[in-house]
Amino acid sequence: MESELRRVVDALPGLVWTALPNGHIDFLNQRWCEYTGLDVAEACGQGWQSAIHPEDLLEFVQRWRSTLVSCESGEIEARLQRFDGEYRWFLFRICPIADASGRVVKWCGINIDIEDRRRSEEAMPTRWWLRAPAREGHFCSIGDGIEAHVALVTPTGEIEIVNRRALEYFGATLEEQERRSIADTVHPNDLPNFIAAWRGAVETGRPYDVEGRHRRADGVYRWFHMRGSPLRDTEGRIVFWYLLHTDVDDRKQAEALLAGEKRLLEMVASGHSMSGILEALCQLVESTACGCHCSVVLVDPCGTRLEHGAGPSLPGTFIAFINGRPVNSDSGPCGMAACLNEQVIAADIPSETRWAEWCPTALAHGLQACWSTPIASTAGKVLGSFAIYYDGPRTPTTLEQSLIERFTHIASIAVERAQNDAALRRSEAFLAEAQRLSSTGSFLVDVEKHEITLSEELYRIFELDETVPLTRELIHSRFHPEEIPFAREVLERARAGDLVVVDKELRLQMPDGSIKYVHVAAHTTRDQNGRLERIGAVQDVTERRLSEEALAKVRSELAHVARVACLGALTASIGHEVNQPLSGIITNASTCLRMLAADPPNIDGARETARRTIRDGNRAADVITRLRALFSKKDVTTEPVDLNEATREVIALLRSELQRSRVILHAELADDLPPATGDRVQLQQVILNLLRNASEAMSGVDDRPRKLVIRTEREEDNRVRLTVQDAGVGLGPQGADKLFEAFYTTKSGGMGIGLFVSRSIIEGHHGRLWAAANDGPGATFSFSIPRASEGVTNTSPAPFRGLQ
Ligand code: ADP
Repeated sequence: MESELRRVVDALPGLVWTALPNGHIDFLNQRWCEYTGLDVAEACGQGWQSAIHPEDLLEFVQRWRSTLVSCESGEIEARLQRFDGEYRWFLFRICPIADASGRVVKWCGINIDIEDRRRSEEAMPTRWWLRAPAREGHFCSIGDGIEAHVALVTPTGEIEIVNRRALEYFGATLEEQERRSIADTVHPNDLPNFIAAWRGAVETGRPYDVEGRHRRADGVYRWFHMRGSPLRDTEGRIVFWYLLHTDVDDRKQAEALLAGEKRLLEMVASGHSMSGILEALCQLVESTACGCHCSVVLVDPCGTRLEHGAGPSLPGTFIAFINGRPVNSDSGPCGMAACLNEQVIAADIPSETRWAEWCPTALAHGLQACWSTPIASTAGKVLGSFAIYYDGPRTPTTLEQSLIERFTHIASIAVERAQNDAALRRSEAFLAEAQRLSSTGSFLVDVEKHEITLSEELYRIFELDETVPLTRELIHSRFHPEEIPFAREVLERARAGDLVVVDKELRLQMPDGSIKYVHVAAHTTRDQNGRLERIGAVQDVTERRLSEEALAKVRSELAHVARVACLGALTASIGHEVNQPLSGIITNASTCLRMLAADPPNIDGARETARRTIRDGNRAADVITRLRALFSKKDVTTEPVDLNEATREVIALLRSELQRSRVILHAELADDLPPATGDRVQLQQVILNLLRNASEAMSGVDDRPRKLVIRTEREEDNRVRLTVQDAGVGLGPQGADKLFEAFYTTKSGGMGIGLFVSRSIIEGHHGRLWAAANDGPGATFSFSIPRASEGVTNTSPAPFRGLQ
């Protein structure tokens, strides 16, 4: 039987062969061997390959292998070498032979000579459409294999042939499709464009290329890239239009999605409202995934409740129901997703057992599926939930999951950005409020570009209109004329790259001439790009400055009052001080007259007494000058003061009063005392006050000497000290500090301002005045002030200047 079969196979008018499931050739019929001139032994296994044209071999082997893998029939074309060396084209038809279980047990092949067909095709490859029967065959063999819609259309628009794929898409037979108009297949919005392209192509004979939507059998429109090319006969006349329509719907959708995402991100970047962005996001999702409703809910600032974000197509009553629900696993898919920070899928709400309250409400609104995904910040904090609802049960596909992931990400960007913006606005408001309360404005100057930015408060301080463009000239117009050179110098130095630091009080002059005092603290730095910029704060200290001045004036009045009060008490002693030289003058003048009246006149004696008269006159004048200096109100000057000298002058004024009070004064003035810095008259007022207080504290002392020691000495840290030590009543139990309070006095005729004023004066000199009890009886009052630094003449510290 087998040999019978073999004879049959050998006699078949074709080249027949068989192969094992692995592709190993195990049989070739006699005709095969005769044709190729190879014997069975040579050709079996891989030997047959030597008969395949070398140019075709590689592709042949690849296709043969993929046929083996597919376990399905296949066709391969290749040139096969005849025994005489000539190559002819063959079609290799290959079929699998399977056993009962479907497993391939053998491959069977037949090689058909197609040399003539190939030749004729090559002879007229591009004219096949001119022959109707060949046209159809060719068209089907090519057109049905193409993953696109292919058609041949006459120049008048009648359909000649359409490939199978296109007919399947439109759900029509060729006849039905032929009867349809273009308006039945192309989307109405794309029709004008398509018709214009077609007309233009027909008129010019040039190919056209447009995009438009084609209606599928189920009514869904999909995007196609439509191309048409003319096919001409030998005379160049157009006989057909070859149409190739490629489905680009997926690409179009991806593009639309990308454009939508871009639009959303632009909205985020340009600071659109969060609700506007979320609304647009939901609309984009709804247009991308047809038939869904989309919503965003946010977690409130306390993290406990859901707040409505957006839900353009959800019923208002359902939104109202969700709004304010707790963030927990029982409240519904959105609350649960936000609480667990996990996606929650409710694919079939009617059969859901979770969320006893939420499920019936969702169903009552016609919602049967809900997929909720948490929206998390970059730091991982849950900001809200993004939900997609469907009217029927549904589980997300992989594609839908990836869309959800993309949209949730955009939602997180939008929400985070909006929250950051709100936080920024809040902190800006805080800053503006703080600036307003502290009357402090800030500025930023781009030194190179001359760009000036002022805070709202600084506009107010400078009394500038925020709508008027800022220029350096405009800013300088607000400076007091005397300050402008300084402002210019700072700017010039900054521009030259000097990182100038300013911490200074300046004056401004407003257009109405009023003066403002501002404290400016500014420095020059470089930004991240190395550009020079000046950053600073300006505090309006006008009110403080004016009240300081008022206070200084009051103190000055007080100091004057204190001095005048002192004058009253010193009248007797001063009278004595002036009386002495005056009686000397009178005595001398009489003596002088007497000497001149003598005969002969005593000229030398008269000259001498006249000189004494002048000396006494000068002494009286000196006393008056000192008194005037001390008691007339005069401006404060700052100069190096010899404290010893100043002390001696005060002692001279007080000498007779001290004598009358039986006070024994010891002056221990340091020889090497450096000069102090300050106002001589004010310092003398302090010394006078301390000496008089010491003398008065001893007025009741009779059991011990009324010893008063005044001492000057050099201190460390470039300071000088003056001490007044008495043996008086000493400090009471009320303590030393009480004595320095204004209007504290224990004396019946006292005013209680001497020590208060003295302390103000010393503090104005950057010094300290204090009292301490002695080891024995009495008290010691001391002050310590800075010594004059080398070269200092007329500069003075600000607080001291205030005390005029
Ligand atoms: P007044 O001399 O007008 O009372 P002061 O301010 O000079 O005002 O002094 C305030 C008070 O301090 C005095 O009334 C006195 O009680 C106390 N005091 C001042 N100096 C001495 C001193 N050397 N010893 C004891 N108490 C003093």
